[in-house]
Amino acid sequence: MGGQIYSRALNELVPEFWKEAPLERYVTEKRFWFLSKDSKVSVSHKTPKFAQPPYNSCTVLRAKFDKWFVGKAIEKGAFYIPETLVEEVIRNAQGIIIGVKTGRTDGELYAPVVVAADGVNSLLSKAAGFHTEISPENVALAVKEIISMPKNRIQDLFDLEEDQGLTIEIAGEITKGMVGVGFIYTNKTTLSVGVGCILSDWVNYKISPYDLIEEMKNHPVVKPLLAGGQTREYLAHLIPEGGYNAMPILCSDGFLVVGDAGMMVNGLHQEGSNLAMTSGKLAAETILEAHRKWDFSARGLSLYKKKLTESYVMKDLKKYRNSYTYLESNRQLLTLYPEIINEAATEFLTVDGVPKREKQRKIFWSTLKKRSLWGLAKDAFSAWRAFG
Ligand SMILES: Cc1cc2nc3c(=O)[nH]c(=O)nc-3n(C[C@H](O)[C@H](O)[C@H](O)COP(=O)(O)OP(=O)(O)OC[C@H]3O[C@@H](n4cnc5c(N)ncnc54)[C@H](O)[C@@H]3O)c2cc1C
Repeated sequence: MGGQIYSRALNELVPEFWKEAPLERYVTEKRFWFLSKDSKVSVSHKTPKFAQPPYNSCTVLRAKFDKWFVGKAIEKGAFYIPETLVEEVIRNAQGIIIGVKTGRTDGELYAPVVVAADGVNSLLSKAAGFHTEISPENVALAVKEIISMPKNRIQDLFDLEEDQGLTIEIAGEITKGMVGVGFIYTNKTTLSVGVGCILSDWVNYKISPYDLIEEMKNHPVVKPLLAGGQTREYLAHLIPEGGYNAMPILCSDGFLVVGDAGMMVNGLHQEGSNLAMTSGKLAAETILEAHRKWDFSARGLSLYKKKLTESYVMKDLKKYRNSYTYLESNRQLLTLYPEIINEAATEFLTVDGVPKREKQRKIFWSTLKKRSLWGLAKDAFSAWRAFG
């Protein structure tokens, strides 16, 4: 992932995690950039509230973080079997799932409930017949580089104190009209730099992810921030973006689906890890209850769906259920508007003896040349309906 871990969800699983987890930086500032070809308009928020435990979010490198995280599960009694591929589910004579078959010799594992937490591709849900192949419109492909840089340089460049971090989400020019965003996240001695777009767009626009991330790194606004850095890792991963409208079956006899496997990503807010952790916790609570009643049927496990529905997970996914289809059919939001905003900012902030009222008039008429009043009103109304 990017990756920001959201603290509230993690703190519910491992109280006061910040005292021991391998974290990179506490995110105290969030910036949003709207890029044109050569300029940016930036909106940011920085607060000391994000610098206090439990913090709001922290940057992590998953290779280190996951190792620590699984250690916490083992401390609580979990039996961890690494480097093992789960190949398919095992069913009893009635067709009820009672375990999984792994790639190991004699690798059959039996359990009253199987939880599919196997990420975006979820071979397990597919094998169980609950998940069809995800359509290219419902999944994003993200590419990312980890770029090393001395700690002090990162802190100077991004105006950060020791251990503090920042995230930048980037919309506009860098995605060339594709539905997607770029990002720059600060770690201790590295930056996570990437861009993700809807898979069908990569195909239709015939743009290669490798070329796009190179272009992003060379954008006049981005380039100075990466100067002197060295690429250490190159990664690519899918992100399920179909949301509420594309969720698979989440609960069946002896079977639950959590996290990315269940399409639980709030792409607009760059949230996925928290939805995965919360849905995992709700699945665990449901299983404890089912264990108490010794009822692992779909009915017994349906409490999971109830808990999800009452939580922010389903509420947020439902709120943004149409946001991606909206962006796919309103691409001017990602192309024209960043351009308009940047041009307006340049015009208004240029001190050239032209009275400000005249500048406002100029901005107004130049905007209308690009988008009619009717178009602007329609965009505002439909954006409010999709995101409001
Ligand atoms: C580039 C990028 C940036 C992101 N940035 C952020 C961010 O900043 N903040 C955020 O909250 N979210 C972010 N996300 C989303 C976030 O990574 C996911 O939502 C989150 O990791 C989902 O957790 P999960 O446990 O459901 O799945 P995963 O983290 O994908 O874990 C699934 C695990 O199951 C394993 N697995 C899969 N199939 C099998 C099998 N058959 N047998 C055994 N093991 C299997 C996989 O190897 C993997 O370890 C980002 C995603 C990407 C791709």
